[in-house]
Amino acid sequence: MSSYIPFPSASITQPKQLNVLRDMDMESISRVHATYPMRISNYYFQLIKKFGTPLLKQAVPDIRELHDPDGLVDPLDEENLSPVPNLVHKYPDRALFLISNQCSVYCRFCTRKRKVGKSEMVITDQTIADGITYIKQTPAIRDVLLSGGDPLMLTDQRLEKIIQAVRLIPHVVTIRIGTRIPCTLPERVTPELAQMLGKYHPLYINTHFNHPAEITLQSSRACSLLADAGIPLGCQTVLLRGINDDPDIIRELMYKLIQIRVKPYYLFQADLTRGTSHFRTSIETGMAIMRHLIGHVSGMAIPTYALDAPGGGGKIPLTPDYITSLDNTLQFTTYQGKSCSYPNTTID
Ligand SMILES: *Cc1c(COP(=O)(O)O)cnc(C)c1O
Ligand code: SF4
Repeated sequence: MSSYIPFPSASITQPKQLNVLRDMDMESISRVHATYPMRISNYYFQLIKKFGTPLLKQAVPDIRELHDPDGLVDPLDEENLSPVPNLVHKYPDRALFLISNQCSVYCRFCTRKRKVGKSEMVITDQTIADGITYIKQTPAIRDVLLSGGDPLMLTDQRLEKIIQAVRLIPHVVTIRIGTRIPCTLPERVTPELAQMLGKYHPLYINTHFNHPAEITLQSSRACSLLADAGIPLGCQTVLLRGINDDPDIIRELMYKLIQIRVKPYYLFQADLTRGTSHFRTSIETGMAIMRHLIGHVSGMAIPTYALDAPGGGGKIPLTPDYITSLDNTLQFTTYQGKSCSYPNTTID
């Protein structure tokens, strides 16, 4: 039996299917497609037709993907941090377990562009079993992140077997699933799936929305099903040039997320992944966006802006600096730019 859900019908997988869009450079698209996979679910393709550029750029191949000599194949050094294939153990207490190599939309900016959707990424019963064994033998691991690819591309049955095996490990406290499916293939989130996942608490889902236009009736319904099953929902947004690198767009996205019960978790500075440099913004752009959010919008709508350190150093928060000096007095500026101080003294 197949491990994956049936290929979503009417998905876009061949360059010629894109010719219904305007101004497509078919030759470039075909060249990129020979190196990096393309798939766009029918649902997301309809959104692209409706909203254009910010969604199109995330999913339609661009010739610049092939001209990025300074980009790094494996920017986070994941392969070297894998004690067994497809399990990245970087932080002592958590493991990133890659259990699917498929996605419903292949994001052009994917950090794992080197392998997601490609034959290089081999996931078998054996790699899954080896990952489970490694987690079992490593008592320091208390948080297992299921990722890929997209874990929700697996059939309910396959996914449940993996989650069940992880849940049976006594030292594992939380299970997390990283998925873009509520955003890119919301019809995959069925009441049956939500009910199944709800049996394995504490289970968290971090989804991935990058633009307010991605928040639709359908994606909101998908998130409701999951939230109603008791699953806390977070969002890991990527800051992308020409797509969402604007304070008003990010603010609208964050507000819309909390409206559908998704708590913004991270806003990621783009990684140095080869083939994605054209998406990168400056750190100043991200900082300016954070200054626009902090204090001005509900704290519930504020993610942590973070950079995943090249070479596997882990995630580093990039927070605008409100402190101007710190000794016996803390001097700082408020979100409105006013100077303020606080006596830095304690009583014995
Ligand atoms: C991002 C990541 C995690 C989880 O980090 P959190 O800050 O806890 O969300 C764990 N392992 C790897 C390899 C990661 O890249
Ligand atoms: S959904 Fe995630 S894993 Fe899949 S292509 Fe997009 S960023 Fe990569």
